[in-house]
Amino acid sequence: MKKTSEMYRGKTKTVYFTDNPNLLILEFRNEISALDGKHIETFERKGLINNNFNYLIMKKLMKSGIPTHMEQLLSDNQSLVKKLTMIPIECIIRNRAAGSLINRLGIIEGVLLNPPIFDIFLKNDLQHDPMINESYCETFGWVSKENLSNMKQLTYKANKILNNIFDNAGLILVDFKLEFGLFNGQVILGDEFSPDSSRLWDKKTKYKLDKDRFRYGLNNLIKSYEEVANRIGVFI
Ligand code: 5GP
Repeated sequence: MKKTSEMYRGKTKTVYFTDNPNLLILEFRNEISALDGKHIETFERKGLINNNFNYLIMKKLMKSGIPTHMEQLLSDNQSLVKKLTMIPIECIIRNRAAGSLINRLGIIEGVLLNPPIFDIFLKNDLQHDPMINESYCETFGWVSKENLSNMKQLTYKANKILNNIFDNAGLILVDFKLEFGLFNGQVILGDEFSPDSSRLWDKKTKYKLDKDRFRYGLNNLIKSYEEVANRIGVFI
């Protein structure tokens, strides 16, 4: 398997074709972005941490029956993945109130959400990833009813598995985002799971150990990413 040309350069990852038409290489760069890509900075080691973090989580999810695109860890900042036809929808689970939910509803950060909330957003930077619902998906043909129902079920199942992993590491999984794609017609988890796409707080102190440190201009971003990675055993 050989890396060939660049397929797509995103805000934090670059995707490459390989000589196998069914496989791609995901390269995790050191950049971090907020405000739809208007605010970008580079942090040493971030690509390495997120690549390894994502690999471990995908492996654990697969072991528990969630199909993912992960094939193999290739290097410090690269992973080999299945080539999916991506579905342009972000699936979010919220176990506690934070981020856009508290801005929208004016509720207090950290409030327990029981049962956890499932939200969907359209992936569209120009429109600032607007919130949508099932009816929009059907009307605009972004994803079939059946596949969306599958995505929702898989996201809730992932939430159970992930809650367990982070709880055992003394962390609260506040919320997270997943993206899915199709491989031979089957819904498969794609993209990444990392502290860039989730909110993780220390259980005792509620200290934020995720991308909110960057969004809110707080210090210790890489130290926090390393802390969560070490707690769940990424580098063991
Ligand atoms: P919120 O809706 O509060 O902005 O985000 C909810 C969760 O989804 C957070 O964990 C956030 O990091 C993640 N999330 C939502 N949209 C994006 C996105 O466009 N990129 C990334 N990396 N994460 C996102």
